[in-house]
Amino acid sequence: MVNIKDSNFLVPDDPYNFAVNVVDKHAEVAGKSRAMLWSDVTDTEVRDLSYEYFSQKSHQSAILLRELGIRKGDKLMLLLSRVSSWWEIATGALRAGVIVSPCSSLATSKDIEFRARVSEASIFVGDAMTVAAFLKISKGSHNVRRVIQADGDPIPGVQQYQDLMAQIPGHRKFHGPITKSSDPAFVFFTSGTTGPPKMVVHNHAYSISHVTTGKDWLLLEPGKLYWNLAEQGVFSSPSTLTTGLMGQRLGWAKATWAWFAAWNTGAALYVRKLQGGFSAQDLARTLHRYPITTLCAGPTIYRQLVSPRLLEKIAAEPFSRLHHCVAAGEALERAVIDSWKAATGIEIKDGYGQTETPVLCGNFVGNAVKPGSMGLPASGIPLSIVNDVGEECPINEEGNIAVALYSSNGDRLIGITDGYLQPDGSKKLNLLTCKTNPDEPAHGGKWYLTGDRGYRDEDGYFWFIGRADDVINSSGYRIGPSEVEAVLQEHPAVQDVAVVGSPSAERGEVVKAFVVLTPEGLRESPGALIKKLQDYCKKEAAPYKYPRKIQFVGHDFFPRTSSGKIQRAALRKLEKNPATLSPRL
Ligand code: ATP
Ligand code: MG
Repeated sequence: MVNIKDSNFLVPDDPYNFAVNVVDKHAEVAGKSRAMLWSDVTDTEVRDLSYEYFSQKSHQSAILLRELGIRKGDKLMLLLSRVSSWWEIATGALRAGVIVSPCSSLATSKDIEFRARVSEASIFVGDAMTVAAFLKISKGSHNVRRVIQADGDPIPGVQQYQDLMAQIPGHRKFHGPITKSSDPAFVFFTSGTTGPPKMVVHNHAYSISHVTTGKDWLLLEPGKLYWNLAEQGVFSSPSTLTTGLMGQRLGWAKATWAWFAAWNTGAALYVRKLQGGFSAQDLARTLHRYPITTLCAGPTIYRQLVSPRLLEKIAAEPFSRLHHCVAAGEALERAVIDSWKAATGIEIKDGYGQTETPVLCGNFVGNAVKPGSMGLPASGIPLSIVNDVGEECPINEEGNIAVALYSSNGDRLIGITDGYLQPDGSKKLNLLTCKTNPDEPAHGGKWYLTGDRGYRDEDGYFWFIGRADDVINSSGYRIGPSEVEAVLQEHPAVQDVAVVGSPSAERGEVVKAFVVLTPEGLRESPGALIKKLQDYCKKEAAPYKYPRKIQFVGHDFFPRTSSGKIQRAALRKLEKNPATLSPRL
């Protein structure tokens, strides 16, 4: 395995570059080993791509960027579906010090215009669909100087990536300015669960923070094949067996978690080019067809995989190579972990992190899983629960999930964002300075607040309560929506559920559950079922947490982010203003 810097703290002036320090090193040491197994959705075209391939292609693409007049510090918008050129170009851009801004390939012209303008991108690389969307936006609204198409039927007049690359001899090497670990490398967009997506800046050292993601959480090493579905969204349909999983996004930071986790550890990525819908059955077939050892998916996807019919099939014909499954992005309930384990023998390991951070805590190798808990802090991550003045909370007390940003000698932790890019060009990070305990400069006294609430138990395990804005305050009781959701999700009548606070004159707020029913639930009388669900919650959770209001809704009701997360803020808005017909942020 390539030896990567393993310090958790940043030495700002140290040179560091993922293309040079990781990809080229693998190419030197084990060049022919697999970096990616790629297939189209019909499995007619399958490509096995080595580290040597990506090293060479990224030298060429870095040279190409220079020849196109793109310089270190310029920004590149990357809106490609799941094709290998995404990784060729992204690695080449890092090599050249060009800041990569990946966006969902399903972005509309309006989304693209906003992102191009705010990120101040100089070059746009897309496919037939995204380039066409880009060409519709008005010229004066952005500074993009170059538009390149890297996939799909060529659009007349648009420069084609493959043609441009063909002019650069394969043996040429890029020799350019060396990047420092503190130089900006990425601009990511958050999922947009609580409002418009925020633009998160990460530096070159960010990729190092995913050594832990790969080693400790995903158990990756040479020979492993990792399929990351976590950046993909989901849309609901009446039958869980035909539920479509929308692919082709690659805009979420989770795409880079996977990339860095796999390549930092010498493992390989499995990449499947999806077109439009993708069903849970396709997913199961793919796991049978390819030697995929490791799977990451959002809880929404696992929820759909654990339909009784599909599980029966999986149990009858087990996956021969798959042996490790993880989930991230939302709270993962015990019912799903149990069903998946019963069918596959594999325990899903939850992990917690944000676009702004690497994996912060999780169920890592060697730790016993406490179902429903997010696990223990990742190696080297000073994760804690702090109150609103920055003091660490006692065991089992709710507080802000926070990360200490500095070591006691003032070194900055790697992997946590440098800040958000604002439309006015400024950067802001949600920092809390600990003023109350000057004698113990706990990690320099500065916490990065995740915006999430949780608590830590007596064994040091972290439990997620909810996003600070989602926590319900009912008659002085604070209730995290995910716990109530997890209980309801276990009931056989419930297929999907979202819990929010609903205004109440008497209690301030009451717990309200929006519930999508299973076919079994649909057969029951609604009035009786509401009572049953409430009683079930009173029994399984603390009685004050039961939903006083329950509304049955259809499969398409929930407003979701492109990565499949339910936007509870939109549901809250609907509760405040019931005249609004459909929930939207
Ligand atoms: P936005 O910041 O735009 O509102 P977002 O917070 O959903 O969107 P991401 O950075 O993709 O954008 O998601 C990180 C958030 O997802 C975390 O802050 C947390 O709320 C939630 N999350 C991630 N992993 C888990 C997990 N394992 N359990 C519970 N919640 C999780
Ligand atoms: Mg967020």
